[in-house]
Amino acid sequence: MKKLTMVSVLLGVTIGGVGIGAGIAAVMMGGTNNLRFGGLFNSDNSDNSSNNLASNLTGEQSCRLDSVVAVKKSVDGIWQASQVAVNPFPSLINLNNNSFALDFAASLNPAPFPQISDRTRLASVPIVMYHDIAKEKQVDWDVTPEELEQQFATIQANGLTPITMDELVNHLRTGKTLPKNPILLTFDDNYLGQYNYAFPLLKKYNYPAVWSVHTRYVGVNDAKPKATWDQLREMQSTGLITIASHTVNHLNLAKLADSQEYTKIDEELNLSRQAIEKELGIKVRYFTYPEGGYSEQVKERVKQAGYEAALSMSLVPAEELPAQKSEDLLAIRRYGQSRFKDVVAIANNGIPEQENLAADDSDNLPDSRIVTFTAPITKKLITFGNLPITLISGGRPVTVHHHTRDQVKEVMKTAKAIAAVDGGFFSLASLESNKMIGPVLSQFSTEAGVLNVGRSGENPLLKNRPLVLISPTNIKFVPYDPTLYSTKEQLQAELPDVTDAFVGAGWLVRDGQPQDAKSFGKLYGFDANRDRAFWGIDRKGRPVIGVTMEMIDSVSLGKFLAQAGLQEVVMLDSGASASLAYRGKSLMSYTPRPVPHVVALLNPEQTTSAKWGGAITCLSQNAGKELGRN
Ligand SMILES: [Zn+2]
Repeated sequence: MKKLTMVSVLLGVTIGGVGIGAGIAAVMMGGTNNLRFGGLFNSDNSDNSSNNLASNLTGEQSCRLDSVVAVKKSVDGIWQASQVAVNPFPSLINLNNNSFALDFAASLNPAPFPQISDRTRLASVPIVMYHDIAKEKQVDWDVTPEELEQQFATIQANGLTPITMDELVNHLRTGKTLPKNPILLTFDDNYLGQYNYAFPLLKKYNYPAVWSVHTRYVGVNDAKPKATWDQLREMQSTGLITIASHTVNHLNLAKLADSQEYTKIDEELNLSRQAIEKELGIKVRYFTYPEGGYSEQVKERVKQAGYEAALSMSLVPAEELPAQKSEDLLAIRRYGQSRFKDVVAIANNGIPEQENLAADDSDNLPDSRIVTFTAPITKKLITFGNLPITLISGGRPVTVHHHTRDQVKEVMKTAKAIAAVDGGFFSLASLESNKMIGPVLSQFSTEAGVLNVGRSGENPLLKNRPLVLISPTNIKFVPYDPTLYSTKEQLQAELPDVTDAFVGAGWLVRDGQPQDAKSFGKLYGFDANRDRAFWGIDRKGRPVIGVTMEMIDSVSLGKFLAQAGLQEVVMLDSGASASLAYRGKSLMSYTPRPVPHVVALLNPEQTTSAKWGGAITCLSQNAGKELGRN
């Protein structure tokens, strides 16, 4: 299995020397840094690029609308890919400063109640629903103590982490990171069997769980006896059990809403809560719909009653979804315990085969692999496990070779770029020098259009690294050969109209495939954990620039980027130089090393508005070139 391979690769990873101190210091410094976090974690729903999308949608050119839709779908595809990724080292990552920054930013930015934060798409949290635990099954959905213990052992063996309802709701509201492979256990209807068998097992495994209690039945000794208030108090006092209201009489509230019995609904919601609060001396924050029965009117009553979240259920397997795919906090989806195997797969941040196919139609869109420089520029934070990667795609790529070293957000101003990432390698010999390693051609340079051939002693060492070639209509990555590419004419022979060229560190993804360790040759530190900068082109043909927001080795990063839908990716100067800027702001939580060279994305309108102004055509002369390959 692919997944297993990746886990083993990544478990070898150790987190390097960037301490927690830097993150805390950045947060403590207040204003400026908060803005940076804000810049980083704003989704495209709230920043300028959404305005671009909106204006495109109202524009006359239907083909542009198509391109917006295609971009949206492709971005969804990246989210989807991120959910499939494994979650290999969250416990290590918790020590890292960027995770701290991520949670800090998340806490500032909850989604409006009862919405679920967009950031939760980064994790996959299944909730499993149990009813009675009985030595002898009376109904299909009863579970024996042996089966339950077996399932708890499976949870443990698969490295899943049962979380509390508070943790789940906080995550759904803000996107705050969760422990690795999260899962939530819930027990409905307060059966004595749950107290007798599930509660001791929960204590044994130290697993938290939710208990949904319909108050009129507490302590009732019928064919399926219910636990008493004393037993509930005992469970509650362990800190493991969250008691939720499940109405007074276990009535299906959707049916009451149909007959407009709103007073009855309110009674069921309020009296049950008051009873639990009085008996247990706790605040009840959560509600569980009997029979999963709810409607918009019911949700409104639940909200008015002051509940902060509500659990639903469905007997239709297709309606059983991970929590983050629920419509909102007042209708959180669950899985019946009969789907325990699926639940385990989902909590591994994997997605069962059929759901994977059904969940996202962007995979069905044909990958064009046609270079296009007309797509709107969009920024996304995606996450593989707990590795956040910021990707900015679209627009038209150019390079800037600055007269001196400076922050990327300053260097990109020369080109009036929307976004930029630090570029090729530069000589560290002199702090003031803008001297690069290897040949450089840049259209934004004091020597615009002139090929700086680099040093003849150095160039042979760069052999077979990717030579990046950019023209107004195309991009090519070819293995560098100092004898083949020493004049501008030679570059033009490879790519007519070439305007920009430089040598990158290595291929992270080539022809859609992640690259193995061998492909990096003797590249210094490729296998170390460092902040990584890269650029390339995705399968839809759009240019992409990006950085990792945590440290990682090159081989693992290539695997993630291939999964994220990138076709060709070249690693840029990484480590202390890794730097990404967007709309005038650095997206980094630290101050990167100043650099003389960047790969920048220009707004498509900056260069192509004339072409869009005339006849409506989706195939402008900016599109239609086959993605350059060697
Ligand atoms: Zn129930």
